[in-house]
Amino acid sequence: MASNILNLAGYKVVRVEEDDHDYHITADVLRAAAACTVCGSSRIIGHGRNQQVIRDLPMHGKRVGIYVDTRRWRCTDCQKTFMETLPAVDAKREMTDRLVAWMGVQSMQRTFASIAEDVGLNEKTVRNVFRDHLAGLEEKFHFQTPEWMGIDEIKIIRPRCVVSNIRSRTVVNMLDNRNKTTVARYLTGLQGKQSVQFVAIDMWGPYRDAVRTVLPQAHIIIDKFHVVRMANDALEKIRKNLRSELSLKAKRALMHDRFVLLKRRRDLTDKDRFLMDGWTKNYPLLAFAYELKEDFYGIYELSSSAHEATRRFDTWHRSIPPEVRKAFGDLIRAFQNWMPYILNYFKHPDFAKDPVTNAYTESLNNLIRVTHRMGRGYSFEALRAKILFTQGAHKHELKRPKFERRRTPQTRNTSFGKSSNALEFGYFNKSFQGVSGTFHPQDALASKVNYGSDINTLVELLGSGKL
Ligand SMILES: [Zn+2]
Repeated sequence: MASNILNLAGYKVVRVEEDDHDYHITADVLRAAAACTVCGSSRIIGHGRNQQVIRDLPMHGKRVGIYVDTRRWRCTDCQKTFMETLPAVDAKREMTDRLVAWMGVQSMQRTFASIAEDVGLNEKTVRNVFRDHLAGLEEKFHFQTPEWMGIDEIKIIRPRCVVSNIRSRTVVNMLDNRNKTTVARYLTGLQGKQSVQFVAIDMWGPYRDAVRTVLPQAHIIIDKFHVVRMANDALEKIRKNLRSELSLKAKRALMHDRFVLLKRRRDLTDKDRFLMDGWTKNYPLLAFAYELKEDFYGIYELSSSAHEATRRFDTWHRSIPPEVRKAFGDLIRAFQNWMPYILNYFKHPDFAKDPVTNAYTESLNNLIRVTHRMGRGYSFEALRAKILFTQGAHKHELKRPKFERRRTPQTRNTSFGKSSNALEFGYFNKSFQGVSGTFHPQDALASKVNYGSDINTLVELLGSGKL
């Protein structure tokens, strides 16, 4: 019999029994208790035994239970009785420390059900171990509070929040729901919350209210993509409406219409343009709607100030023919209701080159949705933990802006090939001009700042099924 089968310090294996599924290992504790746990006296005497079954790591594909006769002691000084503490056993649970640690790590990668199956415990126990593990991770990792923050919605069973750092393209948290109280509580707990400059949100009152209450200094920007998306929706309404009145044959002539109409004009191919010409001749309303959609995008793309955007919106608004006014109604109302926050987009320095948007988060959200729909069995909190605490995904540097050729030659001698130090490229000084001077690139590179989980990496991991 392998006396060292447990490989667990502090125990001596007495007997090993096994059946198809389990190992039943009887063991003795090598060293007896030396002192009273109440008063510290060493004058203690045996006071009976009590068998405990301690769960341990699965072995050779079988579940493992360690049977230990735990001794009860009585202190002759204070008269109290106490159980000896078992070495290498979790104080809260009848499990070895190493099993708890293993389950914690496993719970980040697998479903609770499959772990429960492996160790022969119920899912609820696995979930409790997971929660403790998670609390440890939350304690260990502190993500930098984003100066440009994105709060976006994702539906995982219910609507939740994804909080991102727009400049580093990382996820810094996921909140259980999108109520004002939840968001406000999260924001209140942020370290250095007064350094938040911009918050991109969608048109959801509770986000706005929470940010205004807790981060009064931050500029709220309605995420551009949530606004322009509504122009697409309006066009879709008109297209569907039109289709519903057409004969089957006429419908066939409109093949691929959705795909083509949602394209931006600059992306249309010759074939698209040919198709579109045909449709717009027959259905001028569709042409109007397409123009309106494109013109609405133009408000964002052509304006160089909030003032100009307002003017363009007014012109656009007046140009809407009565026949399609209803379809664009939601967009018009939203724009008018949220105008100051929509226009804040243009108040941010360098908005065209480095805009404050949640566009980046969208790709991640889509993948999370797919993962979830595939029914991999993760609860929201497990999914959240994977997103936030998969260590390989953590990002410790701010993203580098795209390399741009210098306009005017400089005399400084830089060795491009050898250096990986972004500072030498002179990026930072240039691209962060205009944003109030709290950012020091040296700090970011010198200390190991953790910006959260890199969205690109998460997308890769999710896409290849590794998360
Ligand atoms: Zn005592």
